[in-house]
Amino acid sequence: MDRLTRFINSIIANGTAATVKEYSGGTQCPCMISRGTEAPAYSADWHRRNPSATNCNGTGLIGSTTSTVSIKTMVIDAKAVGDEVDRSGKWTEIGKLEADDVALYGAVKVSDGSNYSFADLTDKNEITVLGNTYAVKYTLKIPIDGTVVTAALCRRLS
Ligand SMILES: [Zn+2]
Repeated sequence: MDRLTRFINSIIANGTAATVKEYSGGTQCPCMISRGTEAPAYSADWHRRNPSATNCNGTGLIGSTTSTVSIKTMVIDAKAVGDEVDRSGKWTEIGKLEADDVALYGAVKVSDGSNYSFADLTDKNEITVLGNTYAVKYTLKIPIDGTVVTAALCRRLS
């Protein structure tokens, strides 16, 4: 058994159930580029100034389909990997990690047992695990035998 298969099997056997909210399709909300096209980001302020515009509800997308993906993942204290992120100078993107924040190390899609990647997720993709909801703040790529598994640093929302 290769190392990736062992890792995946370990998550299936010992991981914690979680759900990820994913969005597909739709068009970009005008609020996304209100602060420039270089790094489009949701703008609550734009929606305040344009109350009659369709509200994208923080997703930055209009008319997209929301789906929920069931995964299993290893939940660890975000501060356990936070120091590594600190050394790489990423705090400016994430903000300070709080005690309730978590890191999700590796994930498997429950429906087919495949390696699930956090890489394309952003803070609009809410993850619910252990009864709380989190926003993805930063993702890490961890190569195992040529395949990339991912970890996600998540900020607690509720
Ligand atoms: Zn919007």
